[in-house]
Amino acid sequence: MANPIEPFKDLGLDSRLLSALEHQGLHTPTEIQDQAIPVILNGQDLIASSKTGSGKTLAFLLPSLHKLMKTKALSKRDPRALILAPTRELAKQVYEQLRSLTSGTSFNIALLLGGENFNDQIKLLRRQPHIIVATPGRLANHLSERSLMLNGLELLIMDEADRMLDLGFVNELNQINDAADHRRRQTLMFSATLDHAQVNDMADKLLRAPKRIAVGAANA
Ligand code: ADP
Ligand code: MG
Repeated sequence: MANPIEPFKDLGLDSRLLSALEHQGLHTPTEIQDQAIPVILNGQDLIASSKTGSGKTLAFLLPSLHKLMKTKALSKRDPRALILAPTRELAKQVYEQLRSLTSGTSFNIALLLGGENFNDQIKLLRRQPHIIVATPGRLANHLSERSLMLNGLELLIMDEADRMLDLGFVNELNQINDAADHRRRQTLMFSATLDHAQVNDMADKLLRAPKRIAVGAANA
C-alpha cells in the first residue's frame, strides 16, 4: 500500500475548514479524500470513484471551499460553484454538510430542489448565492427561465454521476455544461463506479484532461 494517510491539517486547508472538521471530530481523511483533495486544490479536473460511505462529499466540499475562500469571484452576480446530485434526498444531504462547513463564513448558499416552489427559488437566486446545491432538472429549468446564469461559474461538481445518468439527466447535464464556460471552470465528477459507459462519455464531454482516481477498484 501507499504511504500512511496524513491528518487533515497537513493537506493545506484553510483554518476555518480545519476548525469545522475538528468540531465534527474528524481528524484523518479517508482514502478518497486523501487522494482527491490535492488534485482539486491543484486546479485539475477530476473523475473519481469510491464506494458508498467512503466520504466522497467532504472529498469535494473541502477543497472546493478552500479554493473559493482563497480566490476572488469571477462574477459578483453568478454562483461560483454548482453541486448537482441526482435526488432531492442526496442533494439535501450534501447541502447539510455544506451548511455545517460554512457556518461562520460569509458564504451564501442555496438549495434548489425539484418539486419545490419555483418562485420562492427565484427569490433565493436574487440574493446571489455563492454556492448552489441542486437537482439537475430544476437547475436546468432555472437556466431556461433565465432566473440563473452560469457565466461566472468556477466549479461544477457532479455527485453520483452514474445515478444522474441512470435517471436520464443527460440533456440537463448538457444544458448546464453549455451554460458554464469551460475555459474558466474546474469540473469534478464523482461516481460509485467508473465502469459505466455513459459516465465516461459524459466525462469526455465535460472534463478537460481529467485526473482519474478509482479507490478500491481492481484496476485502480
Ligand atoms: P459517500 O458520498 O462516499 O457515500 P459520504 O460523504 O456520505 O460518503 O460520507 C459517509 C459518512 O462518513 C458520513 O457520515 C461522513 O460524515 C463520514 N465521514 C466522511 N469523512 C470522514 C472522515 N474523514 N473520518 C470519519 N468519518 C468521515
Ligand atoms: Mg455521496
